[in-house]
Parts: sequence; structure tokens; C-alpha cells
Amino acid sequence: MSERQRVNESSEPRVVVVTGGSRGLGAGIVESYLASGDLVATCSRSSTAEVEAWVSQHPDRFLFQRADLSVADDAKAFVDAVIERWGRVDVLVNNAGVARDGILAMATDEDIDLVVDLNIKGTLYMSRLVSRRMLARRSGSIVNISSIVGRSGYRGLGVYSATKAALDGLTRSMARELGSRGITVNGIAPGYLRTEMSHGLDGGQLDQIVRRTPSGRLGEPDDIARVCQFLTDPRNTYLTGQVLVVDGGLTS
Ligand code: NAP
Repeated sequence: MSERQRVNESSEPRVVVVTGGSRGLGAGIVESYLASGDLVATCSRSSTAEVEAWVSQHPDRFLFQRADLSVADDAKAFVDAVIERWGRVDVLVNNAGVARDGILAMATDEDIDLVVDLNIKGTLYMSRLVSRRMLARRSGSIVNISSIVGRSGYRGLGVYSATKAALDGLTRSMARELGSRGITVNGIAPGYLRTEMSHGLDGGQLDQIVRRTPSGRLGEPDDIARVCQFLTDPRNTYLTGQVLVVDGGLTS
């Protein structure tokens, strides 16, 4: 019996790491794993009221650490804190991400570095650190939060789209590297969500997106958290190397 199946059958809480869980989609994913009884760690550059509430409501099951994941040492310190507290990581959700609006011709070096350093390098740092631990235990699951614009492109989001397409390549490569060790690696490509990140879109753009979406609304963090739970369920040992589009049918 694999370690992963043992975790499933023992109904032991999982150790779940969600990056960028202080607000938006990450906060929805943290809520979901807390609700399923797991031990949850998250990080971001600053704390929020939601984070403070989880610290007081779940002192034994929730860990928050300030970290800038575009800095390799911060990523290491965060993973070290999780290992010190709970000794392992069963699930990693690479959610932290940033976008800068504007056509590529006008982007500054700083704009490019900000987006690439977090979305790609931060995800690489976290995945490298955590997959080493998972390899040793021959068990685990990783989910990379991508975006439909990594496939379709979007005017004014060239750098961001490039980073999300890169993550899809990482998902497929890591699935190949880790599959024989009982570790699944998948991506989720959300459509447009009602979070702070989509505040950059004006009312007209949002109305147009809703009109074109078969489900007739923007996505909510819970729509994505549910798919994340499905992908990281210990019973999922065969769905790997895929990027699931969760966009209310917008790009179907
Ligand atoms: P958000 O509301 O802006 O939240 C981003 C989270 O990442 C926050 O917790 C933020 O906290 C953290 N973060 C930002 N920079 C960081 C850094 N350098 N180091 C560590 N943490 C950092 O964004 P969101 O809409 O929830 O997006 C979450 C993920 O979903 C992203 O990967 C995004 O690309 C993806 N996505 C979003 C949409 C959408 O429509 N919103 C659609 C498709 C995909 P701090 O700022 O305090 O660090």
C-alpha cells in the first residue's frame, strides 16, 4: 500500500500548504482545507483580518508566515517553518500570483521582474523545496494555479500570460518526474474571478465577460477550491499532468 493510500485510509489530517492565502482565491482555498479538517499553512507579504481570524480560531491547525516568495530564502524559511511544526507536506497549492496591466511595448523592467519573479520563480522555489520532501515520503499532490489567459492570451496581460503558460509546462514536466513516486501534479486554469486581481478590469470588460460566459457569472474562489480538493484527494492517484480549465464555459 502506498503512503498516499495510507493517508487516505487513516483519515489523518493532511498538511496543506497554500501560497498567497491572505485574500482572494488563496483565502478561499485555505477556508476549504480548514473546513475539511486539515492542517493548513499559508504565507503572503502581509497579514489580513482573515489571517488573524484563522490564527485565533484554529491555533493548532493554522500557520501563517510573512514571506515574499520571489525571494528564495523566504520560500525556504516558510517551508522550514511548516516542517518544524508538522513534519511533512501532503498538499502544495501554488496560488500566489501577481499581474501588471499594460501592453508589453510599455512594460518596464520592474513590471517584468515583479511578475516573472513571483509567478514563475516563486512557484519553482516552492515546488523544488516541497517536492524533495514528497519524494522522500513517496506521496503528495501539487496544484499550480494557472489562468485561461495562459492559453488564450489577453491584450495587456502579455507578461502574466507568459508566466501562466510556463506554469502549465512545469505542471506537465513535474507530473512526469514525480508520477512513479506516488505524487500527482496538476494545474487549474480559472477564468475571471471576483477578487482584488480582477479589479483592474473595468465595468464594461466585466459585463462583457459575464455575457460571454455560459454559466452567466464570474467565478468565485469556492468554484476553484472545490476542484482543488478533488485533485488533491488522496484517492486521486491517476489524474496527473493535466491543467483543468474552470471558467464557467467561457473558453469552451
Ligand atoms: P489577489 O487577490 O491579488 O491575491 C494574491 C495573493 O498572493 C495575496 O495573498 C498576496 O498577498 C499574495 N502575494 C502577492 N505577491 C506575493 C509575494 N511576492 N510573495 C508571497 N505572496 C504574495 O489574487 P487572486 O485573484 O486571488 O489570484 C490568486 C491566483 O489566481 C493567482 O495565481 C492568479 O494569477 C490566479 N488567477 C486569478 C484570476 C482572477 O480573475 N482573479 C483568474 C485566473 C487566475 P500580499 O500582497 O500581502 O503578498
